[in-house]
Amino acid sequence: MAKDGIRAIEGTRDYFGVDGIRFEKAFGAAAEIFSRYGYEKITSPVFEATGLFARSIGEATDIVEKEMYTFTPGSDSITLRPEGTAGVIRALLQHSMHKQGGLVKLWYGGPMFRRERPQKGRQRQFHQVGIEAVGSGDPLLDAEVIRMGLAYYERLGIGGVRLRLNSIGCAKDECRPAYRKLLKDAIAPKLGEFCKTCQGRFEKNILRILDCKNESCKKLAADLPKSHEKLCGECDQHFTAVKEGLDAHGAQYDVDPTLVRGLDYYTRTVFEYTHSALGAQDAIGGGGRYDGLVEELGGPATQAVGFALGVERIMIAMEALGCCACETPLQVYGIGLGEDCHKAMAGMIARLRNAGISADMDYEGKSFKAQMRAANRRGALVALILGDNELEKGEITVKDMREGGGQETVPLNAGVEAVLQMLP
Ligand code: AMP
Repeated sequence: MAKDGIRAIEGTRDYFGVDGIRFEKAFGAAAEIFSRYGYEKITSPVFEATGLFARSIGEATDIVEKEMYTFTPGSDSITLRPEGTAGVIRALLQHSMHKQGGLVKLWYGGPMFRRERPQKGRQRQFHQVGIEAVGSGDPLLDAEVIRMGLAYYERLGIGGVRLRLNSIGCAKDECRPAYRKLLKDAIAPKLGEFCKTCQGRFEKNILRILDCKNESCKKLAADLPKSHEKLCGECDQHFTAVKEGLDAHGAQYDVDPTLVRGLDYYTRTVFEYTHSALGAQDAIGGGGRYDGLVEELGGPATQAVGFALGVERIMIAMEALGCCACETPLQVYGIGLGEDCHKAMAGMIARLRNAGISADMDYEGKSFKAQMRAANRRGALVALILGDNELEKGEITVKDMREGGGQETVPLNAGVEAVLQMLP
């Protein structure tokens, strides 16, 4: 603990060491995979006008009702973003990106803030990488987006991701509103058997009763009418085409009628990626189509689809699966013994870094043994060793630190070359 007792705020954490590497990898893979599918990066502010989130996420959602960090520093109310979509769509409209013709494909990554009860895989500051594809209702785009999420997990070495899929229809009277009514009629006679939270959701957000985690609610929900069986003709066709799009590429999925997602703006396709390594909070990412949101935020009627993937949960899966455990943060560690060798080593290390090699050295005047230990601890593949004898003869020792690796002594000015040859 820090001397004055100051600790990180509950539900926030620090990322360093192997975790720091995993964290960076999650963002690096996003840049690589999403750009391969034609997405451009957008970075928007971490705080926005409170009204933006209330309007887009929905007043009757857990997030807006009780999880937002809202401040009124001046006369305006601002909120730390609890998710990324609202800010991206606000930026898209503000900069008229939707008027430039065609589909707009954007990706983002960064911290999100929700005042939830912290537990494994659930933090108050967490990170997401996500995408938004704005300007098309093509079901093959839904399928492409869903497959891109799977490609992202694969890139990180996370196997065993399960894909849950559902359609919650659209705002037309005969579609979701009719389904809501059906649900209401089915639930009303048994409302007392549902948990208190569900009873509260009955009037405000009835679909959320379907994804309640309470075991007895789950049992009751199993007998309720299924949204994907009650879709209007167009939504039904759309859902069939999304499934065909996934089938065409061999993507495995489970149609799950209890999947409704927590945010109000979704229409038609909703999906979630889960992983068994995560425990209770097993959603590793999720998304869906949101054909009404752009209009809701003051733009023209525009169809869109997107997802957000949780970086901390990705890191938990990476750890459980041993991904990135053998990552080497450092290629070369320089061991210089005595003042002259220390100076000469500083020059060698600088040349290696200029040649694109990750390299570091001792700055504490430690013994040879302690410096070797440091080289091992840092996971160095090669150690450069320079003592007074070698310096006098104009030589340096290059030691392969991998199991069974040998060592050779080469002229000082050939050290960089020798290291390059020894590295994989
Ligand atoms: P959502 O916007 O709620 O669908 O979240 C998308 C993804 O972000 C989820 O599937 C989780 O992986 C992750 N996530 C959401 N809330 C949290 C949280 N409080 N802590 C950590 N990860 C979260």
